[in-house]
Amino acid sequence: MIDEYLSLIEAAPEGIVEIDEGGSILLVNEAAERMFGYPRAELLGQGIEMLVPESRRAAHRERRGAFQKEPASRQMGFGLELEARRKDGSAFPVEISLSTVTARGGRRFAAMVRDISGRVEVTRRVFELERSESAKVARANRLKSEFLANTSHELRTPLQSITGFAELLCEAPEDTLSPKYRRFAGHILRDSRHLTALINDILDFSKIEAGKLDLVRELFPVGDAIAEVMESLAAQVESKRQSVTIAVPPGLAIDADRLRLRAILMNLMSNAIKFTPEKGRIAVTATGDEKRVEVVVSDNGIGIAEEDQAAIFDPFITVRRGLREGTGLGLAIARNLVELHGGVLTVESKLGGGSAFSFVIPSRDGNGAKISRPRVVLVVKDQAPGKNLLADTVLACGFQLVLCVSQESAMATASRLQPDVIAVENPQLPAVYSSNRRTAHIPVLLILDQEHADSEISSGTAAVLTQPVSPDSLVEVLQRLSDGV
Ligand code: ADP
Repeated sequence: MIDEYLSLIEAAPEGIVEIDEGGSILLVNEAAERMFGYPRAELLGQGIEMLVPESRRAAHRERRGAFQKEPASRQMGFGLELEARRKDGSAFPVEISLSTVTARGGRRFAAMVRDISGRVEVTRRVFELERSESAKVARANRLKSEFLANTSHELRTPLQSITGFAELLCEAPEDTLSPKYRRFAGHILRDSRHLTALINDILDFSKIEAGKLDLVRELFPVGDAIAEVMESLAAQVESKRQSVTIAVPPGLAIDADRLRLRAILMNLMSNAIKFTPEKGRIAVTATGDEKRVEVVVSDNGIGIAEEDQAAIFDPFITVRRGLREGTGLGLAIARNLVELHGGVLTVESKLGGGSAFSFVIPSRDGNGAKISRPRVVLVVKDQAPGKNLLADTVLACGFQLVLCVSQESAMATASRLQPDVIAVENPQLPAVYSSNRRTAHIPVLLILDQEHADSEISSGTAAVLTQPVSPDSLVEVLQRLSDGV
């Protein structure tokens, strides 16, 4: 029976080494002889530490002591680098399982040793390969972006001339161009515009990918950007007889790059128009505070199937490939631009049930509210010339100022410019503005100097301050008035 066990140990593919409590080697099998490079005779009776690299012997002795105090079957070398030493002094990585054998002569400890140098080497190679592959991919990506940026520039110049001449042909007098050729010119114009849009998109996209797009962020009313984009899309909305609702709280400021915000809005809003049938409804709403602004562009158009919703943000993906206008880059760029601002762009949609694209742009320092101030304050100065304290304060507080020096010009300017607040120093004036149809809705702030502090206040006065006015109270009042509170 014992012999059978011994031959089993002898034939085991793993190295087996048994030691006594003092650490002397009692038994080794053939695999251990091969692994460590010692003939059996040189191992038996020797201390186990001879199989451990010199630098690790002390630690090994200590750990062996700890294990003997609290022995349990366990595997060593998982996740840690365990090393053994061959006769020739070379070290190799191993995995070891330990078990305790209680025999008549006292306890013994058996170690099963597996040489894992092959596995470690494979892992190392895979790791190196992955590292060099990802460096290659990064380089290829950069080269691709540079190539795209360069070629896009080269392509734009000749395209500009093609588009320009095609425009001229389309506008040629009736008698110089037959309807057929005029139609051809129309095709050239349409397709060259499409190409220009595509190239501009590619240029933007490659700039973003190459990390070359720097944002120029500032605080400005988000409603302005929405209104501008809406204006340039008005013809399309009209031709599809769609209805558009825009809801933006007055004075809501966004901390963004104006040009890029316009590009984001342009993509979302033109998509909403494009993918919504005639007479459909489109809504643009903005909400937020000093920390963030969220814009939602929703439509009741064709919608996007759930399985396509992730892919539409990938470059060059258009779900309905039949549509020629799109480049498939719009949403990829829009998402990248939002993310450059530290924000997120998401979609909620149902096939046939419309879509809602939302993006959030956080302000850089939670300071967004500071400029959610009236854009224009009209200051009417018909008092003693030279006293410009009020105008100075308005300017110093960051408001836009329109200064009028006569009552007539002030009324004309207010009607035309529709300022957010009118500031006057003459107690009679509020009544004048509130009785005019074009200015009745504009809040009038009356600022009295000491001399007139006790004057009677005319109707139509939205707020009164008495000089000297502190900048803080002026900002607070202007803010309140422009918000319509
Ligand atoms: P494109 O230039 O084709 O509009 P985008 O990247 O802007 O490219 O959009 C990708 C695709 O996402 C579109 O081709 C369309 O299939 C889908 N899509 C985008 N916006 C909407 C929307 N409001 N309603 C339905 N589908 C949309």
